[in-house]
Amino acid sequence: MIKKMLLLSLLATSAAAQAETVVVYSSRAEQLIRPLFDAYTRDTGVQVKVVFDKDGPLLARLRAEGSNSPADIFLSVDAGNLWQAEDMDLLQPVQSTVLANNIPANLRDPAQHWFGLSVRARTIFYNKNTVKPAQLSSYQDLAEPKWKGRLCLRSSKNVYNQSLIATMIADIGPVKTQRMVRGWVDNLATAPFGDDNAVLEAIAAGQCDVGLANTYYYGRLVHKNPALPVSPFWADQAGKGTHVNISGGGVVRHAKNAKGALRLLEWLSSEKAQNLFADVNFEYPANPRVKPDPMVAAWGSFRHNLINVRVAGTRQAEAVMLMDRVGYK
Ligand code: FE
Repeated sequence: MIKKMLLLSLLATSAAAQAETVVVYSSRAEQLIRPLFDAYTRDTGVQVKVVFDKDGPLLARLRAEGSNSPADIFLSVDAGNLWQAEDMDLLQPVQSTVLANNIPANLRDPAQHWFGLSVRARTIFYNKNTVKPAQLSSYQDLAEPKWKGRLCLRSSKNVYNQSLIATMIADIGPVKTQRMVRGWVDNLATAPFGDDNAVLEAIAAGQCDVGLANTYYYGRLVHKNPALPVSPFWADQAGKGTHVNISGGGVVRHAKNAKGALRLLEWLSSEKAQNLFADVNFEYPANPRVKPDPMVAAWGSFRHNLINVRVAGTRQAEAVMLMDRVGYK
């Protein structure tokens, strides 16, 4: 009997000594997220194992693994992708007053499957030598004939543009949105680009005068080249506000360590972690009590579109069809 108790207590000790692990599947880039997990391990002793890949392969893997998946957290960029995971039933709803207090309601799933952890704006950028800010106003204005041959866009295949268009369908309806996108296509200076960097570089080079990009791409470029002749303009300030999106995450449906996953998500939303999460990528903290990096703050404050970012997912299919109808490649 005593022998057995001794054995049990030895087993318990070795289990406690074995460090807790949280497994993360992440489409957020490794160099942006690794420093945070290292800090979390230093803080808590919890090990964080990460699988990095693009969203498509990660979602396919989660679905194929089903209840055998080792993943506890899915981290992604764009509410459109997080909604995809939710829609594929790969995430579980969680109850967390910490996350509810740290993350504004419009930046998380109302049913708590996923939560924003950083904010990026998708707004207008212009060439300072050829455009005056007074000439700019809204996303819809970029469809006006005065921008003929002067607009650069990223491909419609990318989720960021799908999310922007999905949000506009919800805000102004499909008819006005389609008219706008048709106008954009008519105004293109050149065929759509493969990424936001190419859009900003084309504006800097004078290939076009205006375009749309996520703010952190601009942050990376001006960090390298402060003389870049490009500025952001906060779109739709007289209307719904500038389109914002998130990077964020949720607890995987079949998580083996759901409690540990939630604790890590809560920590990522905390004042302690939010600057590290956002600043490394020139994004805005999702937690409104945390100030952005000074370089990002210097772009000025602006009115955000406060529609729940989940709409980027729920109206994504409509957005894709709309863009296809008007020949936006
Ligand atoms: Fe991006």
